[in-house]
Amino acid sequence: MTKIMNNEAWNELQRQIIECTACPRLRHHCLEVARTRRRQFRDWEYWGRPVPGFGDPEAELLIIGLAPAAHGANRTGRMFTGDDSGNWLYEALYRYGWANQPRAVSRGDGLVLRGAYITAAARCAPPHNKPTAEELRACRPFLVRELQLLRRVRLVLVLGRIALDAYLRALRDLGHDPGRPAFGHGAFYPPPAPGLPALLCSYHPSRQNTQTRRLTREMWHEVFARARAYLDGQAAG
Ligand code: SF4
Repeated sequence: MTKIMNNEAWNELQRQIIECTACPRLRHHCLEVARTRRRQFRDWEYWGRPVPGFGDPEAELLIIGLAPAAHGANRTGRMFTGDDSGNWLYEALYRYGWANQPRAVSRGDGLVLRGAYITAAARCAPPHNKPTAEELRACRPFLVRELQLLRRVRLVLVLGRIALDAYLRALRDLGHDPGRPAFGHGAFYPPPAPGLPALLCSYHPSRQNTQTRRLTREMWHEVFARARAYLDGQAAG
């Protein structure tokens, strides 16, 4: 019975996200990108709508990114699917046992996550990858709802400062006091209160970070190794 009710709640949340029009600037941008397309994807029918979270409703690991990429998730309709950031993320999820395959190219590619769920601070691709404070505020209720529905999460991995900020604000919206954890690559914070997840921070695997080697593959894998160690009951710090 609980399972059925949860499925209904998830379906309702997905529907609300996909139909959301709260941010006119972002909706316009996503549709415009979908209309004009990038030459290499000219045969694609872009998704062009807000992108719901993806993964296992029973997840112990919750990953929060920034927002869909214009020609990535805004094209494919699945978080982190079809761009360089997603290639980094899914390779690591596969390597450390959360995904059944290392590649994510489309919603029909057979990818399944076990024990992990991926979401973002904003669900529409923003111009220059920069959602405004107002747009992030408008999108936060969806993250709050996901936190309510994901009852088994023990570790939250935030990718970048904006994701951290969105998560902390969502916790406050839910009446929790998460303290003031500072962002830093590799920073780990134990649960701030019984029943709340621990927190792990990483640089976002954006091109800006990976091409400048601010984030190397080794640094990135280390984050996932720590996440795995924590969830398997070993110390993460
Ligand atoms: S960013 Fe979030 S709140 Fe804004 S339109 Fe997209 S789904 Fe709605």
